[in-house]
Amino acid sequence: MEDPSDLACLSQSQQHVLETFSKPAHLHPTLPQYTQIQRAVDSLGHHIPSSGYGIKKTTAHLLGDVVPALNGQALSPNYYGFVTGSVTPAARIADTLVSTYDQNVGVHLPETTIATELEDRALVFLLELLHFNVEAWPGRTFTTGATASNIIGLACGREFIVNNAINRRSKNRMGSREETVGECGLLAACRAADITDIQVLTTMPHSSLQKASSVVGLGRACFQRVSISESDIAFDLDVLEDRLKRPHTVSIVVISCAEVNTGLFATRSYLEVARLRALCDKYGSWLHVDAAFGLFARILDDSQEFRYISDGAKGLELADSIAGDAHKLLNVPYDCGFFFCRHAGLAQQVFQNPNAAYLSSGSSTTGMIQSPLNVGLENSRRFRALPVYATLISYGRIGYKDMLQRQIRFARRIAWYIHQHRDFDLLPLSLHDETSINQWIYIIVLFRAKEDALNDTLVRRLNASCKMYVSGTTWENQQACRIAAANWQVDPERDSALVQEVFERVLRDWQHETS
Ligand SMILES: *Cc1c(COP(=O)(O)O)cnc(C)c1O
Repeated sequence: MEDPSDLACLSQSQQHVLETFSKPAHLHPTLPQYTQIQRAVDSLGHHIPSSGYGIKKTTAHLLGDVVPALNGQALSPNYYGFVTGSVTPAARIADTLVSTYDQNVGVHLPETTIATELEDRALVFLLELLHFNVEAWPGRTFTTGATASNIIGLACGREFIVNNAINRRSKNRMGSREETVGECGLLAACRAADITDIQVLTTMPHSSLQKASSVVGLGRACFQRVSISESDIAFDLDVLEDRLKRPHTVSIVVISCAEVNTGLFATRSYLEVARLRALCDKYGSWLHVDAAFGLFARILDDSQEFRYISDGAKGLELADSIAGDAHKLLNVPYDCGFFFCRHAGLAQQVFQNPNAAYLSSGSSTTGMIQSPLNVGLENSRRFRALPVYATLISYGRIGYKDMLQRQIRFARRIAWYIHQHRDFDLLPLSLHDETSINQWIYIIVLFRAKEDALNDTLVRRLNASCKMYVSGTTWENQQACRIAAANWQVDPERDSALVQEVFERVLRDWQHETS
């Protein structure tokens, strides 16, 4: 610190953090007033100052102007937008240490820092939390989120299926070839493999998967839906096999392990994944799972209450790669996701930094740890493993199971309330009775108002309460609304009472306006 007033500013900001820690959850606003946002925007300078304001004025500006214009997604348990998650106390404490010590976790240098060892340990604990056999997943890394994990998954899949096709072909020609996608690029490798098409076959993909396809050179148009019907998330295995059979074509099959609008799972048993696995093996395809938030269903047990949800994430150990998010249901700060791959060494073929001696690793104490910069997108990387490690040891298996159960119980209460209500429809309409709600509702509730005029303004009206925040979306070409429970603080009873109160209030105001 340069001067004593810097220290005073640091303690002022820490005081603010302490206050947010100690305030009861339900007292945190879900949204700032719009006027507060406008005020904050006005307070932003238009140009970089030539002589700086200094830390004192800057701190006052941050705490006085900017902070009041932030939404309550982490602090309020009633922020139900997107699937955002929050930050557990242990993760929050760890994250302040991450910034303070600012480790660059790119190269494995075990003589200079514990960072890479701790990062791998956090990945191992995550695999254990999710009931995976650690030895079976030698490819593992933290990412900036599920989008980055999907990019890595499609890049590894692309590498694997094209290189395999080259190997099959060169075996027939009795020659050995050095061409790989990572070395020669997609075009040359596809020529060498005599491939004219790469397709991604799936049922209800998250938009980030199509973005990932564009990034890795497959193109958004390479996606083909192989579901039973337009509004169904289950695979049609006959259609899938027909597509896999196409000549001069290689494929990546993607399972949506919980779809972001409905929370429904693309597969519902070990056997269903085993069938996909068998088809992928038969046709040399890669099996990737986008399990950003669905993966956490593996924490649940097989009790009657959660059996159908836990079945949705069974069999994922048969996949080649899995994308997951930590900044959602694990409740660590943005940005943090993870990627698991069963094929050792494959990610290096794609992400290796060649010929950069200064980036080489030190000797490893375990011999197993890769330099993260050679298995993922970034070279310089944040120490985002520390909050994951901290929150996992702070809550343990039982703590995370309890958290997820509360989120599901809350979502089911809301789903049941909406289903019974004469003014709302619970979506998809196949969830039409108490049994199906208590089987299939995970952490997301999708719904619409029966009356179009109300439905058109429903999201705005619910959010105008400033007591809760929901996201708008579309379902079967109609506007719809969704509530996602992802916050560690969720209290099913307290929070469902608040949500119902807001709904009833919106309805009363609506009836008042239209009568
Ligand atoms: C959120 C989400 C993503 C994208 O994750 P980011 O963390 O936003 O990059 C991908 N797939 C699914 C199913 C998701 O829910």
